[in-house]
Amino acid sequence: SNNFASLAEVKPDPSPNILYSGIFINNEWHKSKSGQTFPTINPTTGQVITEVQRGGKEDVDKAVNAANEAFRFGSEWRTMDASDRGRLLYKLADLIERDASYIASLETLDNGKPFTHSYPVDVAGAIKTFRYMAGWADKDHGKTIPIDGNYHAYTRHEPVGVCGQITPWNFPLLMAAWKLAPALAMGNTVILKPAEQTPLTSLYIAELSKEAGFPAGVINVVPGYGDAGAAIVANTNVDKIAFTGSTEVGKLIQQNSGVGNLKRVTLELGGKSPNIILADVDIEKAVEAAHHAVHFNQGQVCCAGSRTFIHEDIYDEFVERSVERARKRVVGDPFHPATEQGPQIDEEQFNKILGLIKEGQSQGAKLIHGGARHGDVGYFVQPTIFADVEDNHVVAREEIFGPVQQLMKFKDLDEIIKRANNTNYGLAAAIFSKDIDKVNYIMQGLKAGTVWVNCYNVFGAQTPFGGYKDSGYGRENSQYGIRQYTEVKTVVTKVLQKSS
Ligand code: NAD
Repeated sequence: SNNFASLAEVKPDPSPNILYSGIFINNEWHKSKSGQTFPTINPTTGQVITEVQRGGKEDVDKAVNAANEAFRFGSEWRTMDASDRGRLLYKLADLIERDASYIASLETLDNGKPFTHSYPVDVAGAIKTFRYMAGWADKDHGKTIPIDGNYHAYTRHEPVGVCGQITPWNFPLLMAAWKLAPALAMGNTVILKPAEQTPLTSLYIAELSKEAGFPAGVINVVPGYGDAGAAIVANTNVDKIAFTGSTEVGKLIQQNSGVGNLKRVTLELGGKSPNIILADVDIEKAVEAAHHAVHFNQGQVCCAGSRTFIHEDIYDEFVERSVERARKRVVGDPFHPATEQGPQIDEEQFNKILGLIKEGQSQGAKLIHGGARHGDVGYFVQPTIFADVEDNHVVAREEIFGPVQQLMKFKDLDEIIKRANNTNYGLAAAIFSKDIDKVNYIMQGLKAGTVWVNCYNVFGAQTPFGGYKDSGYGRENSQYGIRQYTEVKTVVTKVLQKSS
């Protein structure tokens, strides 16, 4: 858009003011009922940024009551024109755009991702998501249906109701946008629980939603730990749960969502995505793409290309060039414009990644670059490469969620389809080749929610995203994404006489 300044025109603020650290219910800021707070930590330094009010069951229940009241039959929100809901979403997008540089600075401070990503990827992506979904508010509609007999029938797409939305720490603002935008466009009300590591941008968005003019209770944000998420899942006055995070917690959420009332559930979980490189590629370009496929966002991407399968004819050269590329990767201060890689999110993930690297080595995967801590402050991990990785190695099976690339060799097409699918995950996959027949052959065989061809990590508000198998259930973004936020009501009316 014309108002979104280019990255070159904006200046990050390495110490942005922290304006909001409370619990947002009914368009007001609250302290936690328990009186407890929790620290949010700057992963670049390991220092506390601020204390945040820690939401628990009582706070969640209060937020759920507010969301139910805002969803009441006849409420301001329920009687609002759909086009006006769309206008509120456009307004929210405009306010995010107004404060884009501040919000990107806040995200980089809290998450550690380079500002050169938080600004053009996370913040720009959030704005696009709100605008895309704003357009749908008055354009998603039902059908009239020629039912047999003296009746006429039509469907209404109604909001599901009160939606609990639980987000992860790897794309805090963007994941909040992917969840809030379709829910609000379709007329639902929301309780958002951001990840405990990264609550700050979601809290700022809460205040902007009030400024945009959303009625009280439509959007509620309750920061806290997993117990706050569990309290949302347990509350029988919640109609739907949308979750992004680990497969382990996702499975728990699906189970617990059916214990009281039967909640609708959408899940976006982990992955171990194959990136398949055929022998005919431009090797330099493919190496670059495969490098970013796994290292983007410090490797903390659910669809990271964490199994790079390379055709045996180009394997040795690919390995050599991958190391050259990793050597050049700039790791450091996420506010510095040259930085490509910041710190991992926290000490727990940092230790988990280093542990998995050790395990990979002990199983015989060949560590050919990195493998250790970078520097001595914060949670930085060196860009790391394993060669000669076998399918049964733990680094080829488990989601590492760090800057660790697995280089694996393959020979023929049927073999690669089988090996690519030999995982409980099915989020994404990629194929690099100029041979359209081979690309289509492999593409059809892959069990993955997204297949990228000659590109990687390309997302759009217009395209669905989600997983097969243990990578989740349902799709976000696009027209498919809004389906997850409506119920279909069939209305059948008796008529005196039918007429074609
Ligand atoms: P997590 O799944 O534990 O946390 C994600 C969100 O769920 C957070 O908001 C958390 O507070 C909440 N939560 C935790 N326990 C809950 C429960 N019992 N009920 C309801 N909500 C609960 O993820 P994590 O521990 O922060 O990360 C662990 C691993 O998850 C990572 O190493 C990575 O493999 C994966 N992960 C995936 C994604 C993704 O985008 N798919 C994002 C983050 C993490």
